[in-house]
Amino acid sequence: MTQAEYLTVQEALTAVLNGVPVLAAETVALPEALGRVLAEPVTARDSLPPFANSSMDGYALRAADVVGATAVNPVTLRVIGDVAAGAMPDVTITAGTAVRIMTGAPLPNGADAVVPVEDTDEVWRKRERPLPESVQISRVVSPGDYVRRPGEDIEAGQMVMEAGHLIRPQGIGVLASLGVAQVAVIRRPRVGILATGDELIGVEEPLRPGKIRNSNGYTQTAQVTALGAIPVPLGVARDSEADVRAKLQAGLDAGVDLFISSAGVSVGAYDVVKAVLDESGDVNFWRVRMRPGKPLAFGTYQSVPFLGLPGNPVSAMVSFERFARAAIRKMAGHIRLERPQLPVTLQDEIRSDGRESYVRAVVWRKDGRYLATTTGDQGSHIMTSLVKANALLIVPENVTLVEPGAEIIAWMLDWPEIVF
Ligand code: AMP
Ligand code: MG
Repeated sequence: MTQAEYLTVQEALTAVLNGVPVLAAETVALPEALGRVLAEPVTARDSLPPFANSSMDGYALRAADVVGATAVNPVTLRVIGDVAAGAMPDVTITAGTAVRIMTGAPLPNGADAVVPVEDTDEVWRKRERPLPESVQISRVVSPGDYVRRPGEDIEAGQMVMEAGHLIRPQGIGVLASLGVAQVAVIRRPRVGILATGDELIGVEEPLRPGKIRNSNGYTQTAQVTALGAIPVPLGVARDSEADVRAKLQAGLDAGVDLFISSAGVSVGAYDVVKAVLDESGDVNFWRVRMRPGKPLAFGTYQSVPFLGLPGNPVSAMVSFERFARAAIRKMAGHIRLERPQLPVTLQDEIRSDGRESYVRAVVWRKDGRYLATTTGDQGSHIMTSLVKANALLIVPENVTLVEPGAEIIAWMLDWPEIVF
């Protein structure tokens, strides 16, 4: 049997990340690209804006024609046309003339500026606004004022988003503006999720003596879904090597990119996952110097990356946060793999055994400062303190006491919105 190795969190994380690939690209329709990572840089084929247009409802004119115009001494121009958004102006502005123009409408030839309708004598709040024969302009403008220059936002040929860019709603908007209907993104990882243990029963089953419900399988399915990856639940394997093998085979048949298991990787007599993986030969068993979550297995099963998490629900969830999340994000093409981390001021006291500890806490904001309070019992089977938490406070290795008032780094599970 492989001897368990002691590793720091960073060493374990580095080994896990080195053991998973960035997945291949696929092409998806633009609306499906939300939350995905660009596989290739996006280069603009058009400029944005594509043509000079007005940023206001008003009058397109020559700035030189309204030099010295004021509310008291307005300049009168002859109105020679009207151009709406979506239309093309069919007139050219010459000295002493103006064209009424709507926001987004193309600037007529000869015009170099727009004066907003509020700075004219047109009664612009009226619903019906027949085109006047002349207009009084009551302010000066400089060439370019209220005109959106072509290419002001994006020049044709310019690289707009790099490979690795996470597509958010604003990115979807830019891609739509550039006419990108199909987007090359990294494939979503398919993650096989296996719970193991003779004590586990289904969520819909009544409790029986000695049994508990399989919560890890559901937590991990939710964690994978929350990451935008595809969970492939493989159910519960009994503590028998044959059953573990059968369940893993189902994952291989489903084409998973990564296996995540819970339990059965420590040194218990019934840790059959370990026995099965030991046989396949490519999995290392570690003791990570972290709390919660000491035992961790990582390697490959039939060439597919395999990450074995501890069985205790909190250990499993925190180990997922620290290792599986980063691995899945790497596979999905993300550049930033970790949660946002924030320095906060601790309100109560934390004691640790010298392992790098992840302490369940609530972070909130008061008077412009971020404060943190732990959420109670930190046992690795106490799930309610995790339900209350919006952060994990990281006690570094070899630190055994953090006193109230000390600064500590919070690994943010959510942004601190809770105020009490
Ligand atoms: P093990 O790693 O097999 O020693 O399990 C450690 C602890 O986690 C035991 O108390 C198990 O009953 C519990 N456990 C293991 N798997 C699950 C699961 N899927 N859901 C809830 N608890 C579990
Ligand atoms: Mg077990």
